[in-house]
Amino acid sequence: MDLFEKCKRFTEAKKVMATGYYPFFIPISSGQDTQVTVRGKEMIMIGSNNYLGLTSHPEVKQAAIDAIKIYGSGCTGSRFLNGTLDIHEDLERKLAQFMNKESALVFSTGFQTNLGTISALVNKGEYIITDRSDHASIVDGCRLSFGKVLKFRHNNMSDLKRVLSTCPKHSGKLIVIDGVFSMEGDIAKLPDIVELAKKYHARVMVDDAHSIGVLGKNGRGTAEHYNLEDEVDIIMGTFSKSFASIGGFIAAKEEVIHYIKHFSRALIFSASPPPAAVATVSKALDIIIAEPERRERLWQIARKMHEGYRALGFDIGDTETPIIPILIGENMKTFKFWKLLFDEGIFANTAISPAVPPGTARIRTSYTATHTDDQMNRVLEVFEKVGKKMGVI
Ligand code: PMP
Repeated sequence: MDLFEKCKRFTEAKKVMATGYYPFFIPISSGQDTQVTVRGKEMIMIGSNNYLGLTSHPEVKQAAIDAIKIYGSGCTGSRFLNGTLDIHEDLERKLAQFMNKESALVFSTGFQTNLGTISALVNKGEYIITDRSDHASIVDGCRLSFGKVLKFRHNNMSDLKRVLSTCPKHSGKLIVIDGVFSMEGDIAKLPDIVELAKKYHARVMVDDAHSIGVLGKNGRGTAEHYNLEDEVDIIMGTFSKSFASIGGFIAAKEEVIHYIKHFSRALIFSASPPPAAVATVSKALDIIIAEPERRERLWQIARKMHEGYRALGFDIGDTETPIIPILIGENMKTFKFWKLLFDEGIFANTAISPAVPPGTARIRTSYTATHTDDQMNRVLEVFEKVGKKMGVI
């Protein structure tokens, strides 16, 4: 059979497109902000991961412009060869200091950070233990590793214990978890995970994509939130959320970073983050440190929206963070819900399988420190109207 036959036979997305409810690849013709322009229409954005609102911060934008003036537009090579600039190393020093770790390493995307770290670290005869709701980049990092992959039920500590107890005592083990789960908004039970890791001699890696800048007194993420920074071996972060750019990093002991630098294919065989991204992240980090009020405002908004949705009767699961899923169930019903929101000027996301378990499709909403109370009130008003119309509340 021709290789392309499956492409011809793939009609599910086309069917949804024909209904007018297709929610993906919507082109935005403005900057990512709390208000965006779509096909000439102004919309309230509750679908971005721009947690601190830094994508449009004048100093952040200026830092990117200045970096392009000095270093040009791209690095044209990998960190390993010609693609390391002095600003990459400056940023790594700043990140290591901020995260209270010996060393840090910057990658070109968050996705590559997980791919490159997990596959480099876990070898044949070693084990990776992951939460079933971990991000796709962790799943794919596991696929690329020669280690054995074991999964435990989402945030279920007795299942984690069961899984750990099946691993040979003397083989290397890495537990990898999302700090904040990207589709659920709940927080990993790190105190229990760390305790089990000690008992079973496992190392712990936390993907803090949605936690850095958001969780912890100083925005250092899940480990800081629980006061467990020394107990987590590797903290991974992305630059595509609070840091308002693209890229990712890990922070860990110097010897671990040194090893990954020499074994990570996603680092060695891919071009390094461009100057504008590096400068953006560096300036965003300065602002994360200098302006804790952004984080406070984000939490004020998150609490208001948790209460608002729950009071209206929506099922928002176990979320504790500015990621708030609105559980709908069926894919088509979720697409219809999305379209009614869209027509009312609300830009939200849909999440369907495989991003979430089948039958648990949802509208995924997330908030920004620079959202106004008026915008949030309007969002709740529209959700009430659409929720009633769709029979969800
Ligand atoms: N980890 C998590 C938990 C994520 O949500 C994402 C992106 N949504 C990534 C990793 C990948 O990061 P990036 O988009 O920056 O490549």
